Amino acid sequence: MTSNLWVAKFGGTSVATYEAMKRCVSVIAQYPDVRVVVVSAPAGVTDLLVKLTQAHQSGVDIAPILEQIQNKINAILNTVHLVAQIKHEIESMFSSLEKIAYSLKANYSREHADELLSYGERFSARLFSCVMNEQGLKAAHVDARSLIKTNDFFGKAEVLIKETAEQVKFKLLPLCKQQIVITEGFIGSTKESVTTTLGRGGSDYSAALLAEAAGAHALQIWTDVPGIYTVDPRLVEVARPIDHMSFTEAAELAQFGAKVLHPATLWPAIRQNIPVFVGSSMNAKAQGTWIRATLPAQENTPHIRAISLRRHQSLLTIHSLEMLHTHGFLANIFTILAKHELSVDIVTTSEVNVALTLNHPSGGSSELLTPDILAELKSIGNVSLKVDHDLCLIALVGNQLDTTSGISGKVFQCLAKFNIRLICHGASSSNLCFLVSEKDAHAVVRALHSEFFEVACHRGI
Ligand code: ADP
Ligand code: ASP
Ligand code: MG
Repeated sequence: MTSNLWVAKFGGTSVATYEAMKRCVSVIAQYPDVRVVVVSAPAGVTDLLVKLTQAHQSGVDIAPILEQIQNKINAILNTVHLVAQIKHEIESMFSSLEKIAYSLKANYSREHADELLSYGERFSARLFSCVMNEQGLKAAHVDARSLIKTNDFFGKAEVLIKETAEQVKFKLLPLCKQQIVITEGFIGSTKESVTTTLGRGGSDYSAALLAEAAGAHALQIWTDVPGIYTVDPRLVEVARPIDHMSFTEAAELAQFGAKVLHPATLWPAIRQNIPVFVGSSMNAKAQGTWIRATLPAQENTPHIRAISLRRHQSLLTIHSLEMLHTHGFLANIFTILAKHELSVDIVTTSEVNVALTLNHPSGGSSELLTPDILAELKSIGNVSLKVDHDLCLIALVGNQLDTTSGISGKVFQCLAKFNIRLICHGASSSNLCFLVSEKDAHAVVRALHSEFFEVACHRGI
């Protein structure tokens, strides 16, 4: 084994079929330093599991959903050459999943919902280990729940960094010396070994946490796009891949909705200065994006580097004449929001108004503003509230945006025909963001991309 240890993560599309898993194995074979492999659930499985966790409310018949999951898993299982080794295990996992699904429908708890959600990654890791061995790469499966330790905030558990580092040191590192370790993304467990999940898209974060705890020299995120693009290539066809990004730029982009990285992925990498590579498991030879602490000198000039879009945003506007010449009004608002564990994303104020958006881990924020919370906010005194839904948050991410003249002028000039809400500029040197209505969002993103990447890249900003 080399002294360099790399962690590689393969996302849902990368492990969706037996053929896709085999492609991942050939990627791993090209990087002898990769000793830890983190896998997501096969594409679509977690969405189906989420439907099962909602069955107590929606009343849907869960049998066809279970069948769809089973079909996806069996399609992989039945093509694995060493099927006999894991057939029994996968079947017994499926029976447990079925039991939990029916009992959760009758009697919901967040704890059991997390147990159920964990199955996608657990099926995946078992199958993937088998494909690795079949293809001649010696691999062992280690259950991520014995490595990633969290609190009991089911659905979006917070990771206990010190406890996780200890588990990694004793349970993962010794094994890595002999073989490649395959483990699950997205899941962990409490100190009492109760299963938890890290929030949708959390496998990227799992991989980064393991890279940090293992003292890895690099983290690879293998997905379905060959790197981070100037904008989601599904939104703008002519989006361009970005070769290098700084930690700050990539973290801002992830935070503001670019699904390619879970928002927390860069935190462990920043703490330990671990370079992160993003590439496509279907096209591993394509260049991909390297994310590091600093940019190569030629790219570290003031300019806009990427655009992100986050849908389903709600804008809460709080109006009160009592804000005039008083103190503590904002503190009261934030105390109520904090009590309900709501984190504020963007905020602007005027003399008698406060407008804010809330951060929702899986994107949408309308369901966060429950009638109880709105009533509590009203009780602050002479307050009127307005909630606008169907908004999108658009962020421009780049360098030195706070000290470069002309950037906001250019942005808003090219968006002159759109109605822009809640602009936030200057709080960070690397982003400028604002809200637009859902119906305009796509056109706004296209206009910005055209201005800054299809034409303006030749003009300097
Ligand atoms: P995985 O299952 O591998 O984790 P995801 O679906 O979570 O993959 O993330 C990959 C997707 O992220 C891409 O298919 C792409 O549509 C989307 N995406 C959003 N913004 C960007 C961006 N700036 N660059 C590349 N991909 C992006
Ligand atoms: N399978 C989980 C999800 O779909 C985690 C992940 O893929 O990162 O959200
Ligand atoms: Mg993802």
